[in-house]
Amino acid sequence: MTDVAGNLAAIKGALPPGVELVAVSKFHPAEMIMEAYQAGQRCFGESRVQELLAKESSLPADIRWHFIGHLQTNKVRQIIGRTSLVESVDSERLLNLIDSESRKAGVITRVLMQVHVAKEETKFGFLPDELFSYFKERKFETLTHTHICGIMGMASNTDDGDRVREDFAAIYSLHRRITETVPELRGFDIISMGMSHDWRIAVEEGSNLVRIGSSIFGEREY
Ligand SMILES: *Cc1c(COP(=O)(O)O)cnc(C)c1O
Repeated sequence: MTDVAGNLAAIKGALPPGVELVAVSKFHPAEMIMEAYQAGQRCFGESRVQELLAKESSLPADIRWHFIGHLQTNKVRQIIGRTSLVESVDSERLLNLIDSESRKAGVITRVLMQVHVAKEETKFGFLPDELFSYFKERKFETLTHTHICGIMGMASNTDDGDRVREDFAAIYSLHRRITETVPELRGFDIISMGMSHDWRIAVEEGSNLVRIGSSIFGEREY
């Protein structure tokens, strides 16, 4: 049996003030989410649209759901209004679609821009220079129903702690370059980085939102 409440308490106790925890509940059943909920956790992360919608409709309404997976454009409409934060916007096309669907639905959608710094080719996201240009050229000014709240990124999947630290430092410095270049950006203050195996390094490098799954709920069975 996984001690969900005990794991949560240990992590929350180790997180410095000002760092928020997303409990990544993907592939875990509603009962385990309720264990975390009863221990006080209100923010959960899911990576698949159908799974998020099923859980969102059956679990308490005060849960804040973060979408953290690759969002296919044909599924955008389904999650508009059902998430508190889409952490994984990985293309301008997706962002513009989120904006137009949010406008049609009459809601503002909060998002993070996903940046790709890891050495794996398979990870989604904007390259740092691409993302910097997006802001420098003030392309966000065309958005009317989307609030870009910050950036999200993952480090390389490696045991090399120095490499992981470099990746997180690159994400942090990109965020700073953007805010220095576009000082009028408002509410662009979330830096989401760190998972079960690397969140301590991420927090040292400036993360204020960590996304932790297996250290809370145990290993996933895919
Ligand atoms: C699954 C996932 C996590 C959590 O991973 P753990 O190793 O279980 O903590 C964090 N972020 C993203 C984007 C994920 O897909």
